[in-house]
Amino acid sequence: MTMDMDISVVIPLYNEAESLPELTAWIQRVMDDHRFSYEIILIDDGSIDGSWEVIEELKAVNARITGVKFRRNYGKSAALNVGFAAAQGNVVITMDADLQDSPDEIPELYRRVAMEGFDLVSGWKKQRHDPPSKTIPTKLFNSVTRGMSGIHNLHDFNCGLKAYKKDVVKNIEVYGEMHRYIPVIAKWAGFKRIDEQVVQHYPRKYGKTKFGPGRFIKGFLDLLSIFFVGKFGKRPMHFFGTMGVLSFLAGFIIAVWLIAEKLISIANQSPYRNVTDQPLFFLALVAIILGTQLFLTGFIAELVSRNSADRNNYQIEKVI
Ligand code: UDP
Ligand code: MG
Repeated sequence: MTMDMDISVVIPLYNEAESLPELTAWIQRVMDDHRFSYEIILIDDGSIDGSWEVIEELKAVNARITGVKFRRNYGKSAALNVGFAAAQGNVVITMDADLQDSPDEIPELYRRVAMEGFDLVSGWKKQRHDPPSKTIPTKLFNSVTRGMSGIHNLHDFNCGLKAYKKDVVKNIEVYGEMHRYIPVIAKWAGFKRIDEQVVQHYPRKYGKTKFGPGRFIKGFLDLLSIFFVGKFGKRPMHFFGTMGVLSFLAGFIIAVWLIAEKLISIANQSPYRNVTDQPLFFLALVAIILGTQLFLTGFIAELVSRNSADRNNYQIEKVI
């Protein structure tokens, strides 16, 4: 392997045997045309259709191919994470294995990261070739993600075709279904130069999609996790403590007020309602209990984060 490799192409795949020969040949052609030094990392995410045998054959004729075989299906994020760990190129390109993304986009994506200095350039499938049942929820998703993450210049967070500076992939962790939000993860890790690039998108040529409708629920929950962990992961008490104190105080003040009202009525010998006859009293009780519990959750979360091995892991860009 050369010390200074231009590009690592990282490709997660699950049951894509038919596409692989065409895809790798196409990548090879583009790389050779542009005289890039490169590697292709194929991560077989537990395929059961003979994808691995195809990878073995491809590897036998092209030493630039690296194959990684999972013992079972762990998901696209896991495959990407392993590919990122293995990648040696200065620029890392991810793409899907199903020929929906075109290797012809690689040179321009490479240029924008290597020459223009972007940390991450995400593909934008401006013209999609997917059914409306997928494109409409995706639009909604992208706008929610834009709003929550503050990355306003991306239209298409989940595009499989992306280019990264090597530093980025070595400093982020992707798991669960979080591959949809890699730009958000990168931003939280301090990589701010993020942009997009319109890319061609083709209909799936072989096989079928690997993600069902469940993608939308899981995707949304993952967004919440990313947001929460990114913002409060190292200081959970700030979240739970604030909510807890607010809730407790609201309940406490209401309760004191109701009791005071009754005592004053007794003192004035005017008619009064029992404190327990007032719905507001129960609301106050609930708020007090909830507040205390939130507060205790905050303490426990602090203890957990204090004990985590990477509590003092920070993103250090340079030391001189
Ligand atoms: N994929 C994977 N593991 C999985 C599901 C999918 O590695 O558990 C790969 C899949 O083989 C493809 C990419 O992730 O290379 C995108 O999947 P797909 O084309 O099914 O998604 P879609 O285009 O429908 O969003
Ligand atoms: Mg696809």
